[in-house]
Amino acid sequence: MAGAPLLTVDPNNPDPVVVEHAAALLRRGKLVAFPTETVYGLGANALDPDAVVAVYTAKGRPAWNPVIAHVPDVAAARALTRHWPPAADRLAAAFWPGPLTLVLPKAAHVPDVATAGLDAVAVRIPAHPVALALLRAAGVPIAAPSANRFTQVSPTNAQHVQASLGDRVELILDGGPSSVGIESTVVDLTGRDAVILRPGMITAADLERALGGSGVAVRTATAAVSHDAPPATATAQRSPGMADRHYAPRADVWLFDPAQQPEIAAALAQRGDGAGTVTALLRTTTLGLPDRTQVRMPDDPAAYARALYAALHTADAAGASLIVIERPPADDRWAGLRDRLTRAAR
Ligand code: AMP
Ligand code: MG
Repeated sequence: MAGAPLLTVDPNNPDPVVVEHAAALLRRGKLVAFPTETVYGLGANALDPDAVVAVYTAKGRPAWNPVIAHVPDVAAARALTRHWPPAADRLAAAFWPGPLTLVLPKAAHVPDVATAGLDAVAVRIPAHPVALALLRAAGVPIAAPSANRFTQVSPTNAQHVQASLGDRVELILDGGPSSVGIESTVVDLTGRDAVILRPGMITAADLERALGGSGVAVRTATAAVSHDAPPATATAQRSPGMADRHYAPRADVWLFDPAQQPEIAAALAQRGDGAGTVTALLRTTTLGLPDRTQVRMPDDPAAYARALYAALHTADAAGASLIVIERPPADDRWAGLRDRLTRAAR
């Protein structure tokens, strides 16, 4: 397979020579994929409009879906904004570095391509030593959406990046598997409330605890507000269903509640395709498939998140035509995972 050079870096003690090499590429407007604790990012200088456009092109990402600017410290985050409310200080103190993205009014020098023309910018300090070392060495904010083609499952290791974008990036830094495993929680702080635009492993309850007594309420956006879906005016430019389908494997995905186990087992028995083309990700039930195609997923949400995308990539790589997934419980700790699974199943 043709592909970008893949350089291995010790995640706990990244080699400064390798990091500086990657940082120099970023400063020159090149694309570098690198590990973060959520998923691998496809990085470009967020202040260089041509470099940001190259990210959209490499991913096949539509221009209406803004990217997150990654920075090494709060001062660098603030510098991208023109208003930094007290709630941003609270959340930054509680969760950064970590899997939380804040959306704030953008500073004038942030290029419109990075925010999809919106007046707000999304910023995050990632909690991965390689990402932090790279951001410090680069000296510029790095726009870094997940390092996969648009709509596909996000990469949680360097091999996933190589398979999806290997021929479209200058360099891939391999810092081992991502420890969180799904994308950050995105919170909009441009209004009176803290609005969750995308759920993740930092939950509404976590945010409420951190904002307690501040007078800022936490609520979850309707799909219409989230920029994971296109604005109504862009509907004509996309193929039907494309935007909602996101974080999706190639295979069809069926989601089922544990109570639906008998129907699902019966439907699988009726399907003509061989059992080898079905993969099942299960928690509490079993479907009577061969052992190697029934993956027992962890009970704990953090461990489940770490395992999920690798399981989806493995099913895709094995040529599965159908992935059957037992839906996790409807509690706050699973909200991010339920969101990704719902999108994968569309
Ligand atoms: P990704 O880079 O693939 O992790 O996705 C970025 C997420 O952040 C998407 O859900 C975007 O819609 C959201 N996002 C980025 N910038 C903004 C912004 N300026 N306003 C609202 N949402 C944003
Ligand atoms: Mg993505």
